[in-house]
Amino acid sequence: MKTNLLNFDLNGLTEHFAQMGEKPFRAKQVMRWMHQSGAAGFDEMTDLAKSLRAKLNDQAVVAVPDLLVSQESSDGTRKWLLDVGTGNGVETVFIPESERGTLCISSQVGCALECTFCSTGRQGFNRNLTAAEIIGQLWWANKAMGVTPKNERVISNVVMMGMGEPLANFDNVVTALSIMLDDHGYGLSRRRVTVSTSGMVPQMDRLKEVMPVALAVSLHASNDAVRDQIVPLNKKYPLKELMAACRRYLEKAPRDFVTFEYVMLDGVNDKLQHARELVELVRDVPCKFNLIPFNPFPNSGYNRSRNENIRIFRDVLQQAGFVVTVRKTRGDDIDAACGQLAGQVKDKTRRQQKWQQIVLEQRGSL
Ligand code: SAH
Ligand code: SF4
Repeated sequence: MKTNLLNFDLNGLTEHFAQMGEKPFRAKQVMRWMHQSGAAGFDEMTDLAKSLRAKLNDQAVVAVPDLLVSQESSDGTRKWLLDVGTGNGVETVFIPESERGTLCISSQVGCALECTFCSTGRQGFNRNLTAAEIIGQLWWANKAMGVTPKNERVISNVVMMGMGEPLANFDNVVTALSIMLDDHGYGLSRRRVTVSTSGMVPQMDRLKEVMPVALAVSLHASNDAVRDQIVPLNKKYPLKELMAACRRYLEKAPRDFVTFEYVMLDGVNDKLQHARELVELVRDVPCKFNLIPFNPFPNSGYNRSRNENIRIFRDVLQQAGFVVTVRKTRGDDIDAACGQLAGQVKDKTRRQQKWQQIVLEQRGSL
């Protein structure tokens, strides 16, 4: 079987080339071709010796997942559905803002952690994405938006907030992060690449050592009783341990705060007492808050908090001195909001059927 070079970061590719009897600078050249010029074949890599191109054609491929669907929302949000085999798809979302462009990427097909308010979690776990499939999402987004090394950087930020728990797919995610940060890859700043985790404490410690990018933690509750209910992983790593892990992470983090994500679920975690408890909980952890009004999906059993309650909650945090943002829902008309990303065959919701219909319609036109 041919080796997919998109699975390597620069170190891996350099090693691979050494085994082929090739010099390290060749690995750099090929990295730039693949990730900066969007090359998917070796014949395009015109500054490689003909003999090397022939050897690569023989032994290797640059295999990105197939693009199934590309959609654009009326607010400029874009979404791509990529084929990751056996009927599975993963979604990638691009959110343009005035000062930056953020790409939200997936790390797994489904997720095993079963947070009760998350559509991905409800679908169960299918498999980890390979490094090629993770970085392939950036590759496609750049390609679809016509990004070249010469024009302006359209994607300035990457957040691993799509489908899956990135730290449960540690090695492949770290390889993909390494390519994102590499000057021969996407050249992104550590501060502008964010891993979001539901709180896998040992892996947070490992990430801090090997690839300390910006960190977002899905907190969602102010005490263990509530968090045990909605984020089952909390039973394994309760809040006290999670807070300590956040503090340790900050010793190496590229930013001097952790972002706490907090989904606003009506009547579950959005009361005044919860806001006050939250202020106490995070007292020793430099942080910002991102309140996410719950995005509904069929049969979720939850409702979005009332706007008035979100405002009160935000005010309590702000008055305690925290920076708080309330996430605006973007891409509503293309179901691109957090927790709404589709993807699996197992998902039998109406949305999935809608997707399948779009896939079938578009397949003809691609
Ligand atoms: N698994 C990681 C990253 C992916 S989810 C994590 O849990 O952090 C990205 C964010 O969206 C998380 O904070 C997650 O809790 C939140 N989320 C999941 N489902 C949601 C929903 N239905 N509405 C709003 N936010 C949701
Ligand atoms: Fe998995 Fe994150 Fe969804 Fe929880 S919120 S089920 S960790 S993707």
